[in-house]
Amino acid sequence: MSQPACPMCEMNDVAAHADKYECMTCGHEWPLEAAAEAPDGERVVKDAYGNVLVDGDIVAMIKDLKLGGTSQVLKVGTKSKPIRLVDGDHEISCKMDGLSIALKACYVKKVQG
Ligand SMILES: [Zn+2]
Repeated sequence: MSQPACPMCEMNDVAAHADKYECMTCGHEWPLEAAAEAPDGERVVKDAYGNVLVDGDIVAMIKDLKLGGTSQVLKVGTKSKPIRLVDGDHEISCKMDGLSIALKACYVKKVQG
């Protein structure tokens, strides 16, 4: 992560504490969240192994998953079509086995992107 600049004096001599930044030049302090890696509204979705997923990635199941409301089971190793990231607790929208499904990122691993 790159060193943040002080929002008050724009100097880069900034100390990172556990919960805040402190400017060594002017003494201004501000909370860490303001400088978090992900900007507002942009969240990071990671697969079961911590790889960052983006639109267009191909993922594969890491375990068998029964589809809610059906008797269909997605077998471990089943690969998706290019995924699309969506809001909600099922972060991945994709086609798998010819079905349009929503998946939780914790059930898949990235195989290609
Ligand atoms: Zn400053």
